[in-house]
Amino acid sequence: MVLRKMEEYLNSLRENDKHKEVYYRGKKIRSFLEHPTLNIAAKHTAKLFEFPDRGYYDETMNEEISKYFKVPRNSDDLLNRHTLIYNNTVFCKGVFNISQAIGSDALFSLMIVSKIVDRKLNTNYYEKVQNYYKYVAKNDLALAVAQTDVKGDRSKRPSEQDDPYLYLKVSEVKKDGIVVNGAKAHTTQSAVAEELIVLPTRAMKEGEELYSVAFSIPTNTKGLKFIIRPIEELEGNTSSIISKEDYEFETLTIFENVFVPWERVFLFKEYNFSGYLANLFATFHRFTAISYRSALTDLYLGTTSLLAKANGIENEKHVRDDILNIILYKEIMRMSAIVSALKNNYQENIAIPNPIYTNIGKLYSNENFIKVVASLIDVAGGIIATLPSEEDLNNDELKAYMEKFLKGKYSGKERIKLLKLAKELASSSFTGYLLTLMLHAEGSMEASKIGLIREYNLKDVETFVENILK
Ligand SMILES: Cc1cc2nc3c(=O)[nH]c(=O)nc-3n(C[C@H](O)[C@H](O)[C@H](O)COP(=O)(O)OP(=O)(O)OC[C@H]3O[C@@H](n4cnc5c(N)ncnc54)[C@H](O)[C@@H]3O)c2cc1C
Repeated sequence: MVLRKMEEYLNSLRENDKHKEVYYRGKKIRSFLEHPTLNIAAKHTAKLFEFPDRGYYDETMNEEISKYFKVPRNSDDLLNRHTLIYNNTVFCKGVFNISQAIGSDALFSLMIVSKIVDRKLNTNYYEKVQNYYKYVAKNDLALAVAQTDVKGDRSKRPSEQDDPYLYLKVSEVKKDGIVVNGAKAHTTQSAVAEELIVLPTRAMKEGEELYSVAFSIPTNTKGLKFIIRPIEELEGNTSSIISKEDYEFETLTIFENVFVPWERVFLFKEYNFSGYLANLFATFHRFTAISYRSALTDLYLGTTSLLAKANGIENEKHVRDDILNIILYKEIMRMSAIVSALKNNYQENIAIPNPIYTNIGKLYSNENFIKVVASLIDVAGGIIATLPSEEDLNNDELKAYMEKFLKGKYSGKERIKLLKLAKELASSSFTGYLLTLMLHAEGSMEASKIGLIREYNLKDVETFVENILK
């Protein structure tokens, strides 16, 4: 089966639901599609399968598969991947559609690292990764990736924690596979994915062999529990425009005696490679991040520009500065993705986004998204915090007052529509969620700084200055 339709994915979800252990607001979920809030997250993933022109003919598989699974071999492949993620985000109203993007980010990093480990240690991981990749691509599956461990006391290493399972750990080695215990945090769209790829979150050292593990499992594997965050941007927000059609959730993902067969284990005990795998995945995934973030910014830019006109202030200098601030943000995201693709690193026959430009884009995004939100708030005015409710806006008696008193240069009706969107983007629980996401998702700022300084060539500039001082 290749290139599924939306309905095929939804049917697979219906089937999977029966065996999955998912909790939402204290209750066990029987069916995503019948749940008034969670069905939207499922339909959001389903949109992946409706995205136009999403396939390509893969010669090695002799089949048409999703473009997300196209292994990047050169700059053009990475540029096309950036465009794919950007366009797919626009297709979902500015909301990232993570499943095959994060899944392929993980697969590409596993392909590279497994080859290196095999060569050095005479293991057979690459063959297993390849088999899994083919299985996933041929079945056009939706994936999630659980990398971030819950981590306990951040000043302590995995092996030093009071509880040994604050980083996911192998608790038993069997003839036919391993058993793992622990928990991963913030796993996006996990419970609507069909497969979960698990990666180590950091470098490990001798004595931490049992934490040095990578594998994949179906999301309905026994012992796997998903606890979904509350979807506050939608529930109780009747005026929501974006989230009522597209949003993504995260889970606290608990592994209780989860069995993983050997053919699904891609790293086990090779602690020297754990950090490299974690970083390589982070580089691929941050390239994905700067690609979708430039598309998300379109929402802010378009809304700010239209609201400036609706308020009659589009020619004011400070408003132009607000709009320029958002343009700067968007285009720095886009530029860093393009340069990362053009100046890629190449390893094991795979093109890797340039980690310096990827991390620069990611860090800029972390530090400046809050200013994008501030620019929209500045142009929109305080009304986005105090706008009457959707129920009042739709009340037959009150509607005329609303439209009369909330008019600007645009009519009340037109301006209210824009204000509702601006409220969702800049003055709602969705904003709070996004501010955290833009700071932490795809790795904290410190993680990007470490990645950037490690890769940066300071030697050349030191020599340059030393030569001047001679
Ligand atoms: C919306 C969202 C979606 C996400 N989706 C996914 C996903 O799909 N899969 C996935 O695996 N992860 C996902 N993440 C996780 C994301 O990568 C992490 O949030 C990020 O790596 C930060 O980790 P943390 O949340 O545990 O924060 P922490 O690590 O607790 O960070 C808090 C602070 O502590 C600092 N800190 C932590 N450890 C140390 C240390 N040892 N020394 C010094 N300072 C330290 C950090 O730099 C930071 O300043 C997602 C996160 C968000 C917010």
